[in-house]
Amino acid sequence: MATVTEQDVLEALARVIDPDAQKSVVSLGMIEGIQIKDGHIAFAIQVSPEDGAAKEPVRKACEQAVYDVPGVLSVTAVLTAHRQASQAASAPPPQAAAGGAAKPGIPGVKSIIAVASGKGGVGKSTVAVNLALGLATEGKRVGLLDCDIYGPSIPRMMGIDGRPTAPDGERLLPMQNHGIVCMSMGFLVEEDTPMIWRGPMVMSALEQLMRDVEWGDLDVMVCDLPPGTGDAQLTMAQRVPLTGAVVVSTPQDVALADVRKAYAMFEKVDVPVLGFVENMSYFQCPHCSERTEIFGHGGARQEAEKLGVDFLGEIPLLPQIRETSDSGMPVIASDPSGTEAAIFEGIANRVAIKIEDALESSELAPPRIVIQ
Ligand code: ADP
Repeated sequence: MATVTEQDVLEALARVIDPDAQKSVVSLGMIEGIQIKDGHIAFAIQVSPEDGAAKEPVRKACEQAVYDVPGVLSVTAVLTAHRQASQAASAPPPQAAAGGAAKPGIPGVKSIIAVASGKGGVGKSTVAVNLALGLATEGKRVGLLDCDIYGPSIPRMMGIDGRPTAPDGERLLPMQNHGIVCMSMGFLVEEDTPMIWRGPMVMSALEQLMRDVEWGDLDVMVCDLPPGTGDAQLTMAQRVPLTGAVVVSTPQDVALADVRKAYAMFEKVDVPVLGFVENMSYFQCPHCSERTEIFGHGGARQEAEKLGVDFLGEIPLLPQIRETSDSGMPVIASDPSGTEAAIFEGIANRVAIKIEDALESSELAPPRIVIQ
């Protein structure tokens, strides 16, 4: 099969004419961040914030032009409008009103939950993966969306390699393992490729991963958010039609300060926090079963009580959790009858109940279905 180069992509795009300027999108400098991975192409089209969605026909024309290049298997083109730095750092874009009214849902997806953390390395992705598997064990149809565009770890943790296909040339089929359908930027770009996309491009890429994928009918989509509470996370919490969020923390004080930030972030955008999970809560010696509270213990539970948030459970620090999660065989799949699986399943069960409650509550109608 022909190997597609950046030159091929640019040549194809050079033939796409922007109807307003009557010039090629390439000569207008609108194309940015071309990524190529085995015939899967992604790039961004820079437009002015006022034009926004009005440039959708240009985006479509760009996608089609690149799709016609021999050897191209899929094309993901996103519109990006660079805001002024001062605006980008400030509050919500106007179309993303709080409360979900302006956030279209994903057709066929009943609920979307975010797994978030105030900082990296606390086991957020590990919890997201095992939560997804635990919800599937409850009989739910579950999707897992890796929202960490810069450091996607879901492909490794789910034990999925390979590239998604787009049989119709437009919508990607999600990847699958352990009974979960899954999508991640990690399937589309090489693991070591530095992602130099700026904030607005990240958001557009994420929207495409959500909306241009054939997710099928899902009871729950679990979104593994990037760690932290910066502008990118705030925008995601705002633009993704979330039913609720699960916040993961380790027990020590410094981590708890970050939990408060994560809680405040979701409050700001009116996303209910379904509860806190304390990970690496204690170390259980695999030989003598003695319990050691390395980072202190119980901090997340106390913080939850203070804030009036539910506490969903505590997970011990165990070599088995690290090994299984890093080798693509999450503990619920590798040792379904073990104690660790039972802990994650307990958390998943509490989350499932909270999702039902959130959907039933009058303020939180299921995401609006939009036929595109
Ligand atoms: P985050 O998403 O917060 O950055 P990860 O889920 O990637 O964190 O976890 C960071 C590392 O810690 C991974 O190597 C993971 O396997 C390990 N890890 C997470 N939770 C546990 C646990 N409870 N016990 C042992 N190792 C864990």
